[in-house]
Amino acid sequence: MRLVLRGDDGYEEARVGRVFNARRPDRYPAAVLLAADDNDVVTGVKLARERGWRVSVRSGGHSWAAWSVRDDALLIDLGALTAVDYDPATGIATAGPAAQGGREVAPLLAGHGRAFPVGHCPGVGLGGYLLQGGQGWNGRSVGWACESVVAVDVVTAEGDLVRADADQNSDLYWAARGAGPGFPGVVTRFHLRTYPLPPHMWHDTWTFRLDDADVLLHWLHDVLPTLDRRVEPVLAATRLPGVPLRPGIAHPGTALLLHTTVMGDSVDELAALLRPFDDGPLAGRELGHVRGPTTVDDESVAQATQSPDGYRYAVDCTWTDAPAGVLAPPLTRLWRELDTEHSFSIWYGWAPSKRLPDMAFSVEGNVYVATYAIYPDAADDEKYRSWVHDRTAAIARHGGGGVYLGDTDFTRRQDRFLSDANFARLREIRAKRDPDGRFVSYLAADAQGLNAHAS
Ligand SMILES: Cc1cc2nc3c(=O)[nH]c(=O)nc-3n(C[C@H](O)[C@H](O)[C@H](O)COP(=O)(O)OP(=O)(O)OC[C@H]3O[C@@H](n4cnc5c(N)ncnc54)[C@H](O)[C@@H]3O)c2cc1C
Repeated sequence: MRLVLRGDDGYEEARVGRVFNARRPDRYPAAVLLAADDNDVVTGVKLARERGWRVSVRSGGHSWAAWSVRDDALLIDLGALTAVDYDPATGIATAGPAAQGGREVAPLLAGHGRAFPVGHCPGVGLGGYLLQGGQGWNGRSVGWACESVVAVDVVTAEGDLVRADADQNSDLYWAARGAGPGFPGVVTRFHLRTYPLPPHMWHDTWTFRLDDADVLLHWLHDVLPTLDRRVEPVLAATRLPGVPLRPGIAHPGTALLLHTTVMGDSVDELAALLRPFDDGPLAGRELGHVRGPTTVDDESVAQATQSPDGYRYAVDCTWTDAPAGVLAPPLTRLWRELDTEHSFSIWYGWAPSKRLPDMAFSVEGNVYVATYAIYPDAADDEKYRSWVHDRTAAIARHGGGGVYLGDTDFTRRQDRFLSDANFARLREIRAKRDPDGRFVSYLAADAQGLNAHAS
């Protein structure tokens, strides 16, 4: 364990060195505790109680808004808690909160012929990812990653290390699946249900012009509810050069990439599952098309290329049930305005909704829209933050159902992330488990307006 106080050598590195977004916050913890194990976390929470500090937590450091960096708090950094283990007798994996899903969890499980819905971006830490829901590979089929959490080990506000599952501390178990940074405790270990690794994975990637957005969106909204759940279509507006292009076709600047992944038991099955895409209204108008085998590893490399380290990010999202005719105009406007090499924006087909288990996570919709402004220059912070939040608000105004915590920054735009009933239940759990407000909870410009939904 190492405690770095404000003013000590190494404080700045401990404060923000592991924050993924190069846009670093102007917030200063009283101290950073670099924990080596569960016991250090217990010590940290007790120390915070003694000194009257609040507690913030960092696992993988991938929160866009750097939720872990809070004024005058004790920041408990769990970066060393990365151990991953798998028990073949039970099919349960255990993982430290800073384990990276795509880099550490998925490869270890694959060695046992098992899988878990890790995040699309390989470097995301399990801690933030699972606590807020977890949108991962094969998610349309196996659901939110937090649905596969069977237990968590938690250090409570009292400084006790407890197990929370369906039978014990079940209020904490309920909250650990969706509360995100509002979880009243520090999770030191996740226990995860795993699945047989599907023997085959394919991608199906079509490149289109932005002018085709309207036709594509109408068709996607029609076909989405009919697609097998193992088929995951994403329509991305991207400016990266590496998109499929037929020989002699010039890159259109911003391209529309209809990128679909599917997992299954045989290649014949995958080909059949992707057949609806052959009959799309734009077949023949594509600028390029590639279909064939892929792996979570290959896809992760592509994701990491689209969202590189070392850049500044401004990000926002919304769920929407709007019909294509309502969604297409504001979304296409946003897509036409993308103007940096890495910035991108996705339409992610999620419908039809499934019944969610009884857990805190409770807001989703037919389609997920998320936009990532990615740029190198601090002078552009205000420009891109205004743009991403204003344009997302314009989309959310007509049919927006709320947000997914993972792609939000409530210091700029707030919306609902839990159902009203679940938000009220979470408040009760927090009041009972953390009556002194030891854990910092959500970072929001308007704490009173938290979870309010305008539409
Ligand atoms: C490049 C990139 C790609 C992404 N891709 C995806 C994706 O594919 N799917 C998806 O769902 N999300 C994705 N996200 C969003 C990401 O999942 C969230 O930002 C998530 O919070 C990151 O978790 P973390 O542990 O890395 O972050 P951190 O910044 O370490 O944690 C975020 C917050 O979560 C809480 N927290 C974290 N760990 C604990 C713990 N152990 N105990 C108590 N509270 C804790 C704390 O409030 C903490 O401040 C992506 C983010 C980035 C930067």
